[in-house]
This record gives sequence, structure tokens and C-alpha cells, in this order.
Amino acid sequence: MMQQYEKAKAACGDALLFFRMGDFYELFHDDARKAAKLLGLTLTARDKASKVPMAGFPHHQLDGYMGKLIKLGLRVAVCEQVEDPKEAKGLVKREISQIVSPGTVADEALLDPAQSNYLAAVAFPSAKQKSRKVAEAVAQIGVAWAELSTGRFFTTSVPSFQLADLLARIAPQEILVGSSCRAQLDELRTGSSDSMITDRPDWGFGFQTATELLKQQFDVASLDGFGLEPFGQTAVAAAGAVIEYLRETQRNSIDHFNNVLPFRQSQFIEIDSATWRSLEISRTIRHGSREGSLLGVIDRSKTPMGSRLLGEWISNPLTELTEIATRHDAVGELVDQASLRNNLREYLSEVFDLQRLLSKVATGRATPRDISCVGKTLAALPALKAKLTGRNSQLLCQLEAELDLCVDLRAEIEAALIDPCPAQAKDSGFIREGYDSQLDEMRALANGGKQWIASYQQTICEQTGIPSLKVGFNKVFGYYLEVTHAHRDKVPDDFIRKQTLKNAERFITPELKEYEEKVLSADEQAQTLEHQLFHSLRELVKAHTARLKSNAEIIATLDTLAGLGQLASEQGYCRPNMVEDQRTDIVDGRHPVLDIVEPLGAFIPNDTHCYNPTNEETSDQATGFLHLITGPNMAGKSTYIRQVALISLMGQIGSFVPAKSATLGIVDKIFARVGASDELARGQSTFMVEMTETARILNTATPKSLVILDEIGRGTSTYDGVSLAWAIVEFLHDTIGCRTLFATHYHELTRLEKSLSGAVNYNVAVKEWEDKIVFLHKIVPGGADRSYGIHVSKLAGVPNWVNQRAEQILQKLESTSDVQRNQEAIASSEKPSAGTGNASGQIQMTLFGLEPHPLLDKIRSLEPTEMTPMNALEMLHQWQQELSGEPSAEQNTGRQENIPVEKSEVGQ
Ligand code: ADP
Ligand code: MG
Repeated sequence: MMQQYEKAKAACGDALLFFRMGDFYELFHDDARKAAKLLGLTLTARDKASKVPMAGFPHHQLDGYMGKLIKLGLRVAVCEQVEDPKEAKGLVKREISQIVSPGTVADEALLDPAQSNYLAAVAFPSAKQKSRKVAEAVAQIGVAWAELSTGRFFTTSVPSFQLADLLARIAPQEILVGSSCRAQLDELRTGSSDSMITDRPDWGFGFQTATELLKQQFDVASLDGFGLEPFGQTAVAAAGAVIEYLRETQRNSIDHFNNVLPFRQSQFIEIDSATWRSLEISRTIRHGSREGSLLGVIDRSKTPMGSRLLGEWISNPLTELTEIATRHDAVGELVDQASLRNNLREYLSEVFDLQRLLSKVATGRATPRDISCVGKTLAALPALKAKLTGRNSQLLCQLEAELDLCVDLRAEIEAALIDPCPAQAKDSGFIREGYDSQLDEMRALANGGKQWIASYQQTICEQTGIPSLKVGFNKVFGYYLEVTHAHRDKVPDDFIRKQTLKNAERFITPELKEYEEKVLSADEQAQTLEHQLFHSLRELVKAHTARLKSNAEIIATLDTLAGLGQLASEQGYCRPNMVEDQRTDIVDGRHPVLDIVEPLGAFIPNDTHCYNPTNEETSDQATGFLHLITGPNMAGKSTYIRQVALISLMGQIGSFVPAKSATLGIVDKIFARVGASDELARGQSTFMVEMTETARILNTATPKSLVILDEIGRGTSTYDGVSLAWAIVEFLHDTIGCRTLFATHYHELTRLEKSLSGAVNYNVAVKEWEDKIVFLHKIVPGGADRSYGIHVSKLAGVPNWVNQRAEQILQKLESTSDVQRNQEAIASSEKPSAGTGNASGQIQMTLFGLEPHPLLDKIRSLEPTEMTPMNALEMLHQWQQELSGEPSAEQNTGRQENIPVEKSEVGQ
């Protein structure tokens, strides 16, 4: 047996092997040690002599233990007994039945119904492709991703700098990569999250190999019809690598992968991975969970298919005005027609997860209950279709038209299966009576035999006069007659004795054996036939995969739209007016997550009026397009700027938005950056991360982008930080001109409003009351005049001594520094020309390095021609004193005054 084990172990690579032995799964050697630690199993030894470490668990706990290991990012192979131990001659035959890794989970017990579970592959261009410098597309990195549990399968290619973003968007559980490209992948996705990486042989990523494999998989003569050409060879290679891996790890068919869809990134808003994290779109920063993220909070879907599709929509907000309007029209109709929406959602709640059911059908894992669920889903369709008939919105009409009732298939399933249906195929009796006449006959025979036996018992009792005589059954010698010792003498001669027990004897008769044969064989045959019938029913469903897959897509879309309608009506959203301008006009906007999770009315709505007129006539400068939001800590700056980004994003997925009214100019990219904070875990210098991400924005934002910067520059010293923040704002304003919300606690930046025509100051209103501050969370025009840091520190309970001392220091600093004057000077100083604003451009001026001395001002304002030599000497003397630190009369009277005049008075 251990040889058998070693062989299986060698065939499953680095996977932990669950080896079936009787009613247990056992692990050996290192696997056993690892599993004992990770799963809390007891480590024992196989036998005392060899001391092979062993750990195991009862077979019915397979899902639980497998799930745990997969969540930990491990791979598990299951080796089953493929013979009945009773029939086996010698050692029971065993085979690996499945190899499961985080990206190849298909078992619903291990999946979150509301979330997609993708396996991705990344194919790098070969050295040859790169050096040939053929069309740009060819040198791009191919990325394909597939979901085993639904058969969804996409491929595309991206330039290397976008790889990490795309992977963040897909959030695959597992990424396949050619082993020689592993380092390249690691480098490009530095710091990105937790997907398991699986090294694969490089040959699996060849274009030719992949093409052949995909043609075979899709059963086509050429891949031309899939529209993959624009994405180059690497997109095909990546898709091939996915299929190759699935074929290797899945012992079942993967026929539900019957096509691959090209993914056109340019159709969607570009959202990089840092923005993805900062805005907590599908996961929270703190816990990495769906719960509490935008997706988790706004999901009102009735089916898991709807939830997963909403996740996809949120990952891929649209940029085409007409496409967005199509969704808004549909959502709008569902908002207005409450009864339509309620009815649809009621019918949708009767629908099962058709996508995952279909994958079970394709892989041969579907049980009678699964097929019956396909039937029940089909049964819900007529009502859905009827409700959708005669609707106004184009999308609802299209869904109605395309919904395929599959009447024949449904009739067949309903005729075949009883309801409720057993969960396991090994349970018999699930085929309905009247479905198959042969089956009915066999069942009647089996049942008839049982009836005969009952009446036979009665007859024998009467004949023999033994009232307690019973017919029993056991596996060893089938049906028997049991007579207690008390009646031993009444047993007739033709009874054949089989067994003697303590207080009874068991007999058989030829008649009994004859019927036994009939009953047992009829029963057995009925079961065999039942399973044959079930098998053909499953094949029938499989033959309808394409129609059912399209239905699943329609149901998911309908569910997502109805969910968005429900959300909008629950929360009082408005339909945004989508335009092509660079305009974001929001009245009474709310943060979509806080709006829902906070108690009703607790969230303070805010307006946003952000507009960069592109042609002169419509110039409407008053609103500005670059908003500087200052205000104390905890005032609500971060919340406010995120709310604007999230409202834009929601508008572009086709959702209504949390506001009284909104006009949203389509954005092509959203950038959001949080100042150095939650990134500590990523092991890079936080300030380096902040600047790398900022570089990305400054280098790739366009006038149509929306940029949200939060406390940028905080990760370094104050002077450094203010200077950087200052220059970044200028660059965004002058060179890019995109809508920008810049939240900062550096109130010094408010001076930028004067020098930048499109910049406007806002601050978050606070009320001072009895030496405390009250946050009003209301965004109002104007800049904050100070930072309120000490107030917050008081609120937080920092000892009073520290607060008082800090006040003193602050006063001192504020009265002695020349920061303010310098800032005015800087605001009006000449900037480096736009062309040199990038990495090459050198910025001459620094904010505080060259701190001007008050004497310089004095010298500048002198009029030498009007001075007497005496005046000059006196002045020199005075300056000398000032420089040596002695206070001069002039300093005490205030240094802002006009010095020469004063001096000349002194001189006179
Ligand atoms: P800042 O970035 O200015 O330090 P935050 O945006 O982090 O402040 O907000 C601080 C707290 O105030 C948050 O916990 C949030 O719940 C609350 N808050 C922010 N904006 C609002 C609002 N508009 N209405 C109600 N509460 C708000
Ligand atoms: Mg903040």
C-alpha cells in the first residue's frame, strides 16, 4: 500500500495528498506533519516499526479540511479507492480523483456564492517577440482568466505597467506563470495582494501549443472567430495555459469551456490597483473583506449570479455614454415601477445558480437534485418573461426577447425527476413513476416480490401454526424464516436449516429463494436503469449548455439591474445626468457606504461643483476644477473626496447615485491616493510608495480623468511635504487640467487659489464651542486658516500639559516664521516651463532652503541717492547690531513697516 501511496504522491506534485483508507483520509510523512499543524489533527505513526508519521480524519469531513487548506493557499490532491474493497482481489485500486488549488475550486461547499473565483495565467512575450519589435501589441503581456465553477473565460493583453492593475481588478485566487518568468511577474506585481502563484513549465505558454489546445477544447478548426487578433499571441498563450492546467488538474471533462471572450480594457474606466484599494471598491482596506466595501454594501441581488455580475460591473465601469444610458434607462424603469421590480425580484428568488449548476453538469458532477434545480430555474422563466413583456427600456426588452424558456428541456426534467429530489445520485427512487415504462415494470416486480413475501409469511404461519414466525433478510444468505426455540418441534421437514441463534433458528425454503431471486434482481436492475436514465437526462441538459448559459447571463443581468433599482429606491438615489464635459456637479451628495451603514439622517450631504470649461465661451471659472480641501483632522475631508469618486464610479456602472441631483462628466480614469498610512504592511518605504503612485498619476492622467489626492506629502518632513504637495497641485492644474480634489491638512496650500485660476479653496466647517471643536462635516467655500491639531489632541485626551506647551510653541513658531510671506512670494514666482515639468525638469526654487533675511528686504528698498553719508553709516551700524542679535528699535515697532522712510526720519 505504501508503494501505491508513493506512486500517487509522485503524480500530484507539491499538493498535499489525502489518501483514502476505508472510512478515513490519511496523510503521511511531511504531509502529515504539515496537516497536523495546520488542521489540528493528531500526529500518529502508521506502525510502530517503521514510524511513518501519519494523520487523518473521517471521510465525511473532506470538504471542511480541504476548504481550510485551500484558504491557506495550498494545493490538495485526493486519492480515492476506485474498487469496492469487498470485491477487490488483494490491494484495493486507488486513483487520484481531483487536485484542487485555490484557483480550481468548483465545489459549492468551498465557494462563496457571491464571489467569482478566478484562475489566471500570465504569458510574457518571448525574447524573440520582444527583440523583433513587431507591432506593439505583440510585445504585450497576455493575461487570461477563467472560473471553473461557471465556465466564464476571458483573455486580453496589457503593457507591462498595467499588469498589476489588471490583476487587481480580476483578483484571481491563483496565477499561473511560466517558471522562467516568475521573477518578472513578482517584480511587476510588487506589493499586490494574496493570489497564490503557481509555476508551470514554460512550454505550456507557447503560442502554437496554445492554439492547438484551444482549437481542440472549443472544437473549432480555427480561432479566427473569437476576435483575439488585436491582443496578440500572448493573449492566446495565456488562454492556452489556463486550459492546459485545468485539463491536468481536473479528472472530469471541462466541456463547459466552449469559448473565450476577448476583454477590451479600453471600454472601461482605468482604475489602478492603488485606487482600487484606497476607494475600498470591492474589499475593505483593513480586513480585506467584501463586507463593508462599496460592493458589499450596495449589493441587493437576489441570486449569486446577480451578485457576481455586480462585482464585474463595479470592476469595469463603462466609458461610453450610450452604453451607460442603456443601463440607466433600465434601472430607471425598475425604480419607477415598484410592482414590476418587486415581482421580478420575487421570481428571481426562485432561481438557482444556473452558472454553477451548468459547470457541474459539464464536469459530470451534477446530482439528481442539481438537475432538478435546473428544471426549477426554467420553471421560473415564463413568469419573468411575462413581466418583462412590453417594457419601455431597450435593455429590458432585449433581455425579454433573448430569454429562452427551453420548454422541451423543462418538460423532460419535470417529467423525469421527483420533487424534492435526493442530493446524491447513489440514492435511488428519484425517477418519477410513469417516466419510463421499463423502469415502472421492474419496480412493480420488485415491489410485487416484497408483497408476495409478506403474504407468504402469513400463509406459512397459518400452515405451521407458529404465530411468531417471521421472514427476515440479511446480506449473507438473503431471505429466511425465523422460528423461536419454543416452536422448534412444529417446523416442517421441508424447511432447510441455515443458522442457529441463541433463542431461534433460521430456515429457508425453495419457494422463498425463488422469489428472493426475482425481487433482488428486479431491484438491482431498476437501480441500474434509473442511473442510466439519469445519465441520459444529464447529457440532455449538457447538450443545451449554450442556451442555458445565455439564460444564466440574462438572469444575472436582470437581477443586477433590479438590485440597483431596489437600492436606488431604498436609499433615495437620483439618476445622474451623464455628459461628455469635464464637469462634476453634485447636489447633496452622500458617501454611498456611510449613507447606508450610518443611521438614517446621520450623514451630512455635501455639494460638489467642479468644472473645467474646455472652450472659452462657456467659461464658468467660478466653480474651478481643482479643489483644495483643508480642515482639521476628523472633519470629513477624506470621506468627502472619496464620495465624489465613488459617485462617479457608480454613475458609470449604470447605477443611480446617492445625491439629490448630479451631472457627471464621463471620466476615463480615476486615481485615488491615500497619504502614507495603511501601506505599512507592504514592506516598502511608505513615502516611496506614495511618490511612486503619485508619479503614476502625473504621468498618465488625462484632462478627462478624476484625481483624488488625500494628504499627499504627509510621509515626509513638513517643508518637504508642503513643497511637494504644492508642486503636484501646480502640475495637475497647469499641465493636465483634470478634475482634482486635493485634501490636505497643510492649510498653507490655500494660497494656491490666488495663483491658479482653476483652483478653489474649500474647507470643512467646524464650530468652536467652549474650547472644543464640533465637526459639522459640511464643505464650505474658503480655506481653513489653521490646522486645529491641538484641538484634536485635546479631544483625544492627551495630557493638558502637552496641549498647553504645544499652544505656546505654536504661537512662537507662527510669530517668528516667515513662511507666510514666502508663500505669497512663491505663489507669484515664475514656474519652470511645462515642458520641463517631468522628471527631466529641474525646479530651481525651493520653498524654505533659501530663507530670505529681513535685512535683504531692507537693502532692496533703500534709495541710496536720497541718503546722506551719515544716514548710511548709521544704517550700517544698526544692521550690524541686528545681525549680532541685539534688538533694534525698528524691530520692536514691527518689521512690516516701510523701513527707508522710518530710517530717514531717524536720520533727520
Ligand atoms: P478627515 O479626512 O478630515 O480627517 P474623515 O473623512 O476621515 O476626516 O472623517 C472623519 C469621521 O467623520 C469619519 O469617521 C466619518 O464617519 C465622519 N464623517 C465624515 N464625513 C461625514 C459626513 N458628511 N456626515 C457625517 N459624518 C461624517
Ligand atoms: Mg483624512
